[in-house]
Amino acid sequence: MKKYVYLFGKEFSEGNRDMRNLLGGKGCNLAEMSTIGVPVPPGFTITTDVCTYFYQNNQTYPRELERQVHEGLRRVEDILDKKFGDTKNPLLLSVRSGARVSMPGMMDTILNLGLNDETVMALTKVTNNPRFAWDSYRRFIQMYSNVVMGMDGEILEHILEEKKKSLHIRYDYELSEIVLQELVHEFKKKVQAKIGQAFPTDPKEQLWNAIGAVFKSWDIPRARTYRKLNNIPEDWGTAVNVQSMVFGNLGETSATGVAFTRDPSTGENLFYGEYLINAQGEDVVAGIRTPHPINKARKKSGDALSLEETMPKLYKELEGIYNKLEKHYREMQDLEFTIEMGKLWLLQTRTGKRTARAAVRIAIDMEREGLISKEEALLRVDPYQLDQLLHPMLDPKAKYTALATGLPASPGAVTGKVVFTADEAESLVHDGEKVILVRIETSPEDIHGMHAAEGILTSRGGMTSHAAVVARGMGKCCIVGCGVLEIDYTKEQFRVGETVIRKGDFITLDGGRGIVVIGKVPTVKPKLDEYFQTLMSWADKIRTMKVRTNADTPHDAKVARDFGAEGIGLCRTEHMFFDEARIQAVREMIFADNSGARREALDKILPMQKGDFLGILKEMQDLPVTIRLLDPPLHEFLPREDMEIEDFSKKSGITVAQVKTKLSHLTEFNPMLGHRGCRLGVTYPEIYDVQVQAIMEAACELTKAGTHVIPEIMIPLVGMYQELEILRASTIRIADDVCKKYKVKVPYTVGTMIELPRAVVTADEIAEYADFFSFGTNDLTQTTYGFSRDDAGKFLPAYVDKKILPEDPFVSMDLKGVGELVRLGVMKGRGRKKNLKIGICGEHGGDPKTIFFLQKLGLDYVSCSPYRVPIARLSAAQAVLQKQ
Ligand code: PEP
Ligand code: MG
Repeated sequence: MKKYVYLFGKEFSEGNRDMRNLLGGKGCNLAEMSTIGVPVPPGFTITTDVCTYFYQNNQTYPRELERQVHEGLRRVEDILDKKFGDTKNPLLLSVRSGARVSMPGMMDTILNLGLNDETVMALTKVTNNPRFAWDSYRRFIQMYSNVVMGMDGEILEHILEEKKKSLHIRYDYELSEIVLQELVHEFKKKVQAKIGQAFPTDPKEQLWNAIGAVFKSWDIPRARTYRKLNNIPEDWGTAVNVQSMVFGNLGETSATGVAFTRDPSTGENLFYGEYLINAQGEDVVAGIRTPHPINKARKKSGDALSLEETMPKLYKELEGIYNKLEKHYREMQDLEFTIEMGKLWLLQTRTGKRTARAAVRIAIDMEREGLISKEEALLRVDPYQLDQLLHPMLDPKAKYTALATGLPASPGAVTGKVVFTADEAESLVHDGEKVILVRIETSPEDIHGMHAAEGILTSRGGMTSHAAVVARGMGKCCIVGCGVLEIDYTKEQFRVGETVIRKGDFITLDGGRGIVVIGKVPTVKPKLDEYFQTLMSWADKIRTMKVRTNADTPHDAKVARDFGAEGIGLCRTEHMFFDEARIQAVREMIFADNSGARREALDKILPMQKGDFLGILKEMQDLPVTIRLLDPPLHEFLPREDMEIEDFSKKSGITVAQVKTKLSHLTEFNPMLGHRGCRLGVTYPEIYDVQVQAIMEAACELTKAGTHVIPEIMIPLVGMYQELEILRASTIRIADDVCKKYKVKVPYTVGTMIELPRAVVTADEIAEYADFFSFGTNDLTQTTYGFSRDDAGKFLPAYVDKKILPEDPFVSMDLKGVGELVRLGVMKGRGRKKNLKIGICGEHGGDPKTIFFLQKLGLDYVSCSPYRVPIARLSAAQAVLQKQ
């Protein structure tokens, strides 16, 4: 018989932390915690298999489930000596989702299940707290009618708000027992009127409906969006946790809170959390009341008393548990706890989400504390997340005054136009604007807007509020709990004192410090701290692939070298041609009718190109620099606008009509497959000759001056070995001539890009004429799929949407297709030349997943944009560790 229900709680855990796929993250950790003696309210987990069954069988359950659930319930009742639906000592339950990976707030939860007109009376007696009992009932009806019965949550919320207004009350906790009773009555009437169905009184019926609702919430739009954004497979499904309720709102000896075992923003090894006395968990998470720090060390002047001060013994116990959990899991934990009348319970533990900065620091600290090895530390940091660390911050030299200060929930500095709804954020971003989403608080419904926005600003909520947690996970700049903001959605504005900021106005956020500024403020890239440098140095010791950069200017080369680049893998020379001072000469070269005229124009460009190479080679001294000869179709350099055409005509003495005729001759139907790459070198040899001359003159001059340079000359878009044979010969002829002239030896090499399927298939022949290969996977992806790089943006999103493609193949390599070609190319190339040096310089060279794959193929190096160099260094180290 298949087991669908796993019990947990004191003395009878059936699951453990290795059963994440079956029990979900929450379920397996509840089981694990109770096994190691952490107090967990007893309950049971219904497996993810049931979710799969549910969706495969028309939303029905396996036959055995009912019996197993009822058996589980009976065991929980026995432990607690309470009964579900009992009119003397009723057991109340929570029903929560719990997928393999946490999807914060995306799916549904129902609390206080089991209440009806009779059990509420029993609860009144048992707790001797009628206000609490009726408040729990009122909350239950609100949640259940919304989540299970599908009623718009705003309807009952509105009744509640009206009631408070009529009584001049601000907070829910000020509602008296009598008022709460009235509310329960009104709520039930409203449910009947709206849904045409009475609110269910049978606890068993409530339970089964709630279980069904949680399974169904796997498939609601916001959960689907979240999965898409986070690459969570649709078929994983969620587990359902049914657990006995404990209450943090049973008076002044009760409390609830959330805590991180280390600071999730900086990584500092300091217990960190927030709590509220006499409150339920949702009050903290939803940001309804702003919680207080749990420990004294975290208190700022003006803060209310910490848990350490109000309940010192329980604080100590909590600290003991956090130490135990961190040692046990050897990982920073995110805890949810509740204190019910002086007794501490843990409701959840999971790996805590953190900023990249915190991730790096925690990994290094834990290694130093002896908790984890260096290898584990390297695997603990997500290379994709490192990107965050390279985020800008406000320029320290800039002058500005802060309009307001909130909690620094997630770092980065961003500027954008103020918007107040998620939909608006999305649509403005679609039109090319940058926006800041400003909300009183965010909910999972806002996820698409948060994703689109540059940054998020809320007036309510703490560091563990929805906005804070989600933004941190996304690596988005975010400020929460900015209480001085008076946000008015209807007027589409917010006010800080006398200052009014309207929709569309620019503001700047500094998420690292929680500062809001009016207008735009310049930003700078951050300095990387000692922890980051340590992590990188560990990565460098382990990795076997080199990391180079794609850079076309001395400035970019320097940035990349500072980030640890070990050479240039691609210097695209065409960018140098666009310079205002030389475009005229470039155009003259293109307009030349014969080789002599072309050479004349090129001679004007030569000294400038030489200057470029001097700068780059010098910046990269002692390291290899791969310089690619001209690649794009010539018409890209031509004047387009009438003004430009007239200007060129005047300067060159060619008539406007002649210019236009030439333009029409050069226009291609499909430039990407047209007269470009080495085809230019074959048809107009002078272009490559001059470029080679410029490279080698620069290299010789530097060598003579004592600078060690290693130029690698690269021929693009080769498809047939004959192309390379010809161009290699001319390159060597010119290079050797230059060396002779300068009377100096420069260790140059000549290689090619592999970026066409034919080049891959005939890589053995091509290798004969190449000192190195560099995979140009941008073009290789384009030509393998037959997707135009310039036009794919129009249809690729639909392909990803319809799951024809798992992701954009121009971002992460299509391992099955393009990846197989790379494998073949490596095999054929090295088959002919055993030690052929092979790298990659397409965009994929900075993509962690692609890097893992390339490690297996034995590439010598990857090359990526300067800011991705650290990401590639870490990925290359992880690739070695994962291979082991
Ligand atoms: C490539 O095709 O992968 C490449 C690096 O060259 P480019 O992007 O300049 O065509
Ligand atoms: Mg290319």
